[in-house]
Amino acid sequence: MKDSVEAPTRVVILGGGFAGVYTAKHLTDQLGRRADVQVELLSEENYFVFQPLLPEVAAGGIAATHVVNPIRELVPRARFRCCSVVSIDFERKCVQVSQGAGLELVEVPYDHLVFCLGKVTHFASMPGVAEHALAMKDLADAFRLRNHVVRCLELADIETDPELKQALLTFVVAGGGFSGVETIGELAELVSRSLKYFSRIDPKEIRFKLIHAQERILPEMPEPLSLAARQILERRGVEMLLGARVRAASPSEV
Ligand SMILES: Cc1cc2nc3c(=O)[nH]c(=O)nc-3n(C[C@H](O)[C@H](O)[C@H](O)COP(=O)(O)OP(=O)(O)OC[C@H]3O[C@@H](n4cnc5c(N)ncnc54)[C@H](O)[C@@H]3O)c2cc1C
Repeated sequence: MKDSVEAPTRVVILGGGFAGVYTAKHLTDQLGRRADVQVELLSEENYFVFQPLLPEVAAGGIAATHVVNPIRELVPRARFRCCSVVSIDFERKCVQVSQGAGLELVEVPYDHLVFCLGKVTHFASMPGVAEHALAMKDLADAFRLRNHVVRCLELADIETDPELKQALLTFVVAGGGFSGVETIGELAELVSRSLKYFSRIDPKEIRFKLIHAQERILPEMPEPLSLAARQILERRGVEMLLGARVRAASPSEV
């Protein structure tokens, strides 16, 4: 660490998700009031999203405000910059960001850099999926999914063509990890809760399918728990397509 009369050591953390916010929190807690180290967190949004509860937001079980927290409030001792990281110059030790109403390009110098930018859902190897599937990663996705499912129920309620009605009432979730399992469980609950208001939809017409590449869902969990999750989903009417991978999608098929 530098002597306190010199410019402070600059720790720059990229990303305001679990990794970035908790790194900033632990670091600033440990540094206390020391002035020789300055921690700055850079992220696109000024709020932290508790992603594991997004499926509950989609299903309407909890309000959106229950899963977001202002980053400035979570890490009051860190500086925060609302911006988009564009590039990093490792030789000159600076991050180029775009910020402000005019998306101005600015350089943020660092001594230590922490990468916590999360991951990007990758659809490139699966033709049609980016165009025809919905994602489940942020708050906007949760609202989009909820609106889509409710709209499908509305359209199915007045649909007279049985084939089209079946398509409107068939929901496929790809991925049997935490996000896929929680999403399909919550959606199944949303639909079964809503059905009492849709007199022209028979519960037997609803189909939920979970596609998962491995033979067991929730592979991160101990086997008895992942088996229990599978049984609960099956009791709620979710069909399992295990050992299967999504290859491509069209407007009507996956
Ligand atoms: C629906 C759902 C349910 C889940 N359930 C569970 C669970 O039950 N248990 C579990 O352990 N895990 C669960 N997960 C996974 C867990 O949420 C992730 O592993 C975790 O959020 C990853 O944290 P992260 O900080 O690495 O990335 P992220 O949370 O993705 O954070 C990345 C941050 O970087 C910011 N960022 C990205 N690019 C830029 C850029 N260019 N410029 C500026 N900022 C940028 C983003 O805005 C974001 O704030 C779930 C995930 C989802 C989506």
